[in-house]
Amino acid sequence: MSKLSLKRQDLRNEELECNNLSPIKLSSTIEISSDESDGSEVHKIRESGQEPVVSSTLNKNYSEETLLKFQKSTDSIQSDEDIGEPLFNTDSKPGTSMFNWNQQKKNFDRNIHTDSDSSDDSNQGLRWFQHKKDHKKHKSIHKTEPQSKGKLNKDPVPQVGIQHEQLISGIRVKLPVKPYSCQVAVMNKLIQGCVKKENCLLESPTGSGKTLALLCGVLAWHDHYVEGGSENVLINNSRENSITLFYSTFSSLSFFFWKLEEYRRKKLKIPKIYYGTRTHKQIEQVVRELKKTCYKHKKMTILSSREHTCIQESTRNKTDLCNDLLDPTKRQSCPFYNDNNKKTISSFPAVENRGLNAVWDIEDLVAIGKNEGLCPYFAARSLMEHADIIFCPYNYIVDPDIRESIQLDLKDQVIILDEAHNIEDICREVASVTFREDHLASTAHECESLAKTRAADFSVYDTIKVYIQKLVKFLKNIGLEKHRDYNSDNLSSPYWTGAELQELFNMHELGESAYLTFLAASKAAIADLKKAKEENKMFLKTVKPVISPSTKIVIEHLMFAIRMVTSEQYMNDYRACVTETTVKDFKYATDNTWYSAKKQEHRARSLKLLCMNPGVIFSPLANNARSIILASGTLTPVLSFQSELNTPFVHVLNTGHVIPKEQVYATCVPKGPNGIYLKANYQNVNSWGFQDELGKMLVDVCESVPHGVLCFFSSYNVLHTQMDRWKSNFIWNRIASVKQVFIEPRYSGDLTAIMKEYREVIEETSSGPRGKINGALLLAVFRGKVAEGIDFKDDEARCVVTVGIPYGVRKDPVIDMKLKYNDMNVKRGLLRGSDWYSIQAFRALNQALGRCLRHIHDWGAVLLVDERFLQSENKENLPKWVKTMWIRHNEYNLREDLRKFVAKQKAKGRKE
Ligand code: SF4
Repeated sequence: MSKLSLKRQDLRNEELECNNLSPIKLSSTIEISSDESDGSEVHKIRESGQEPVVSSTLNKNYSEETLLKFQKSTDSIQSDEDIGEPLFNTDSKPGTSMFNWNQQKKNFDRNIHTDSDSSDDSNQGLRWFQHKKDHKKHKSIHKTEPQSKGKLNKDPVPQVGIQHEQLISGIRVKLPVKPYSCQVAVMNKLIQGCVKKENCLLESPTGSGKTLALLCGVLAWHDHYVEGGSENVLINNSRENSITLFYSTFSSLSFFFWKLEEYRRKKLKIPKIYYGTRTHKQIEQVVRELKKTCYKHKKMTILSSREHTCIQESTRNKTDLCNDLLDPTKRQSCPFYNDNNKKTISSFPAVENRGLNAVWDIEDLVAIGKNEGLCPYFAARSLMEHADIIFCPYNYIVDPDIRESIQLDLKDQVIILDEAHNIEDICREVASVTFREDHLASTAHECESLAKTRAADFSVYDTIKVYIQKLVKFLKNIGLEKHRDYNSDNLSSPYWTGAELQELFNMHELGESAYLTFLAASKAAIADLKKAKEENKMFLKTVKPVISPSTKIVIEHLMFAIRMVTSEQYMNDYRACVTETTVKDFKYATDNTWYSAKKQEHRARSLKLLCMNPGVIFSPLANNARSIILASGTLTPVLSFQSELNTPFVHVLNTGHVIPKEQVYATCVPKGPNGIYLKANYQNVNSWGFQDELGKMLVDVCESVPHGVLCFFSSYNVLHTQMDRWKSNFIWNRIASVKQVFIEPRYSGDLTAIMKEYREVIEETSSGPRGKINGALLLAVFRGKVAEGIDFKDDEARCVVTVGIPYGVRKDPVIDMKLKYNDMNVKRGLLRGSDWYSIQAFRALNQALGRCLRHIHDWGAVLLVDERFLQSENKENLPKWVKTMWIRHNEYNLREDLRKFVAKQKAKGRKE
């Protein structure tokens, strides 16, 4: 099922708690009162008050052609019904829809928990690499891993001894290194959340070992659970190990023992752990951390898109290709996944016998798939049923379309979402839909053809066609105006509430009786598709024409949209409008499918349905799970998570940095070298006085700090306005004489080449200047790729300069609607619009600040250019590590201060 899940149709009749909840109180914010950077011996955890409300804006404009996203790209849209058999045994429950409105609400009035922190790690230097030198101290915990037999045993799993075993929240956690106290605090919160079935918000800066802590903590809890430590029957871990060893030794019996073990686990209903990261690349990093631990006996799998795992030699979009090949109505097949071989690498004993290590990366599975001629994509998905921990990009978990397409049942499971700072935006985006008129027209055209060829079902397809044609007419007839602010090319209608859209629908013959008939017909068409596939699969009947996957998606999304805007519970959570923009890609319909024509520009109108309430997506997900853990290097300010996601987070953690204070120079730059105050608001950034003062300050930075310098602006417009001014006077030449300057491109496709060149300059100048050039300056924007997705360690960024507070564009209609929406819903616990706006700005700022300090030995300067950071209410919204390391200055002496700081770090580096 997809967004249109039939479960959702009941929403009008069922109680949805979201709207009826009383305001939620943030239960407790836990801060480590002294952290690594403080160098204290004992770390107490104190309960602090609520985080002060802070700043912001939406990360991006809403729903960049949501429909197109679904049609073009991922595996998300296509359900298994589209491609073949269910992957799992029938006794596994069907994917639990996020729209299971009957879900019992969790108790929001949880007790506030305060935690006792672990003892401090006073020997911070004792880390993984040292541990390898000191085997004698290690307790070897592991029995020999089952030997892989296959050709891919090129990377045998290293034997890991435990260096440290620590009792955390009553559970014995094994770690490859002595943990930092912030790692202990993360594990402490995580374990409590898992044990008590509560949710966590865990902020721990990059480089503090958050991933290792998350993995060791959750897997230790899982081991404890399996062993009967909590609610379960005691299971002897050694027996589990011996079974593993036994079945690897006697492979003929392996399947029997594996089944036996699975039966036992099923009986115990052992939760699985779903570990979501933002990108596939981050999964690789998490897997690398897992390899360091002693939890390699845990069964794992990685869910990945067909683009990463399909082994067909083809330049076509792999999702489209696979859909075609496995579509039973097309009578084609894929040799790598058919009735003869689909089970061949679908179990752990099978993949292990073919050489897959206990901890593997997606490339390992693809290599085996290629060697054996077996589909790795479906193998990884099949392994999910018996895995303890499942890694995937987190949209697989958050997006109900994808969840349902891959039959992800998250009921009572533990969910970890790493790098979850943008989760609110993501949820709103997932719940929003866009319908483009040409796509709707294609759908109507296809249904018209089906009505002609399927005489017995004429009324089904004709009803769909008629309704969609009326919708297209509605789109064409709505009067549009030019956008008031930017993108003057674009036209838009006013924004309507769900109730107003309904009135408009009534006026255009799209009202209740029409949409109820449409919903019934759409349901019948989808049921017809399923039935036809079953029949075709079993060759019971000759192939009959049915709706294409693209049409199915459009119909399902229309059903979803209608149900949302007509539901008592949700109609106020949506805003709708019609827009007209220039689009480049074009698709047209033939009788039963859509083809891509060559790209051409044309104007297209769209109906946009924008969700204002991320809780629509997140709350059912959290209610269904055992515990959901949101983790990131930057969650501060945390106040909005609970109210926006409509989910109680009982355990909130905000740790300091592991980097010693003396390696960081963090300060506010309220004025420039000429004493002119720098307040980067809209008026000032356009004034020459501000631009020149900022430019001179940047010259000081570039001439004082060698290697990489990053400078962030609130938008491309602001960035280019400053640059234009600097080029018209001496400033640009001064900067360019000491730094090679790079500018973040607007289109992410161009970034790779720029980053490559940037890193080459850093490399070339790492041991000394090249001529006068002593490194590179990268000018970038908040919320861009550089600010959120790229790791700059060591010389790649020795200084981060942030200009202003990146509030969103107040005139942006989507932001404007969200502010008003929040103001209207304060009574049910939402933050006021202005508070929400502020929080979003600070979260974007804090993301950028975290770019340059990536590990304990790193050093760098963090300069917040704006006099508003002298005010405590603004400073309060900065990450804890910035506040802890904040240096106060009364006068501008940046050039001198930075030079001293750099000289100190260089001297320290030479000593080491
Ligand atoms: S190799 Fe797998 S993913 Fe690729 S087309 Fe075949 S079945 Fe689909």
